[in-house]
Amino acid sequence: MDLFEYQGRDLFERHGLPVLGGGVAETPQEARAIAERLGGKVVVKAQVKVGGRGKAGGVKLADGADEAEARATDILGMDIKGHTVHKVMLAETADIVEEYYFSYLLDRANRTFLCIASVAGGMEIETVAETDPDRVAKVAIDASKGVDEAKAREIVALAKFPADVAEHVVDIAVKLWQAFVAEDATLVEVNPLAKVGDGRVLALDAKVTLDENAGFRHPDHEALEDKSAVDPIEQAAKAKNLNYVKLDGEVGIIGNGAGLVMSTLDVVAYAGESHGGVKPANFLDIGGGASAQVMANGLEIVLGDPAVKSVFVNVFGGITACDAVANGIIQALALLADRGETVTKPLVVRLDGNNAEAGRAILDGANNPLVQRVDTMDGAAARAAELAAAGK
Ligand code: GDP
Ligand code: MN
Repeated sequence: MDLFEYQGRDLFERHGLPVLGGGVAETPQEARAIAERLGGKVVVKAQVKVGGRGKAGGVKLADGADEAEARATDILGMDIKGHTVHKVMLAETADIVEEYYFSYLLDRANRTFLCIASVAGGMEIETVAETDPDRVAKVAIDASKGVDEAKAREIVALAKFPADVAEHVVDIAVKLWQAFVAEDATLVEVNPLAKVGDGRVLALDAKVTLDENAGFRHPDHEALEDKSAVDPIEQAAKAKNLNYVKLDGEVGIIGNGAGLVMSTLDVVAYAGESHGGVKPANFLDIGGGASAQVMANGLEIVLGDPAVKSVFVNVFGGITACDAVANGIIQALALLADRGETVTKPLVVRLDGNNAEAGRAILDGANNPLVQRVDTMDGAAARAAELAAAGK
């Protein structure tokens, strides 16, 4: 989960990192009130989860409350790289002398953590790495050792931070690592980390990604989720404990087991090429127990997406046998009809594995005109793609 800058700023503050006072506003009036509280000059910053806000005109200085209100009016509602600005952060201004870059991240490719530090901050680090690779220090961090003072000194020396800020940066490097570990983050990035007029070094921007798999250790993280940005169908699926991801095609996909669902996406995308380019509309893993209730929940979720024109139910019977799954599908259709959500889109069902024959017989016996049985995965994918193309 990516945080907004203001949430990252708060998180940094809780972990003792040097940040400037600030607040977040959704209206120009709220912005004015915060500017009055902060007093004097403020910086008004668009809160969108994308970088390069400065260049896009989403970071503006304001000389007092009137101007802060005016700048907030300009920035709220702005579109930055496809993200609409719903909130602005107001912060005390800093008299920036130099801009540096500092981050910790999970380096999946090298199975370690990584510190990236540079004295050429303020701009995109990818650009610096290309044009000025010597000015970007990359230091692997051993997870079991972490960043103590000695490691921090090593980073500061490698990145060639000037002597007058070295001690400040060492302190920040250690605290930022502690925050990274304590919050189960996969990224903490400070750009710019700025040296200001009075010699202090401050974190003027905060980009934080938290590891959702560690959510159980952090009951407070849930409140950081941006509910307005979550797809409503994904939210409904989460509430029903289903692993659902919305995609942008037309063939709804339901399967048991993540591996099977992933390969189903591939065969459907491949089959779709012969049918006008239809694609999978979603990823939905109903997991091991494909009971009628679970199947009904799954169908309800997938059919709740108006983009879906056909559904491919791909089940490989294991512990849950295919006859139980077949009964589940028939009961699910009845259950949805009872709920007033009668299914009108075609379902292609492929059953294989444990008790496949019995399962297929149940589907045939039910004789539901919407349910088509195809016994091979490729054949079923082709049929589902064909039906989706016809329904477009
Ligand atoms: P980003 O462009 O989305 O990464 O947004 P940043 O928060 O990094 O802000 C972009 C730039 O605005 C920074 O690199 C600074 O040069 C400038 N900036 C941000 N905060 C302040 C501030 O308090 N005072 C001044 N003078 N400039 C600031
Ligand atoms: Mn930045």
